[in-house]
Amino acid sequence: MKIICIGRNYTDHINELSNEEPIEPVVFMKPDTSVLNLGSPFVIPEFTNEVHHELEVVIKINKVGKYIQSKFASKYYSQIGLGIDFTARDLQANLKQNGLPWEIAKGFDGATVLGSFLEKSQFKDVQNIAFELLKNGNVVQTGNTKYMLWKIDELIAYVSQYFTLKVGDVIFTGTPAGVAKVNPEDVLEGFLEGQKMFSIKVM
Ligand code: ZN
Repeated sequence: MKIICIGRNYTDHINELSNEEPIEPVVFMKPDTSVLNLGSPFVIPEFTNEVHHELEVVIKINKVGKYIQSKFASKYYSQIGLGIDFTARDLQANLKQNGLPWEIAKGFDGATVLGSFLEKSQFKDVQNIAFELLKNGNVVQTGNTKYMLWKIDELIAYVSQYFTLKVGDVIFTGTPAGVAKVNPEDVLEGFLEGQKMFSIKVM
């Protein structure tokens, strides 16, 4: 199973990290060992002092495909979920500064939260889905898929030029603004169109 992630897909988040708007999608991957077991707490690793939550809409691939055209991309996924791309921002900033790959900042054990998935058919328009993250009961991130720079179908077309997509692969579609540090005892709850998709305790 591949965990493919898209960076810088919402303008408000690009601005909050003072990144430049990319000309093509920013793509990276996390290993499957990074998936946090649902029900387990997220333990902040000892090698970082600054783990950020990045709340992201996730799609799950249900058909093998390569060089998928955007107009056919919707046939390659039937479920939409919500997850967190946990990021050791201090490590990532250091790696970025040195022009190095940032895998260890995003691919460490536990760094991927995959919440529940809903059938795509439940949504009237996949490019108009509201989502939000609550930290200790307060809303800290809100987003809507209508603000994606690259739409879901375009992302599937883009990444499938390089990687054959297989059944069960997931694509994290980027985070909106509001990323921030998590602390021990925090409780993070993700909602997709008002439905709770996960609840994670931080330790
Ligand atoms: Zn992310």
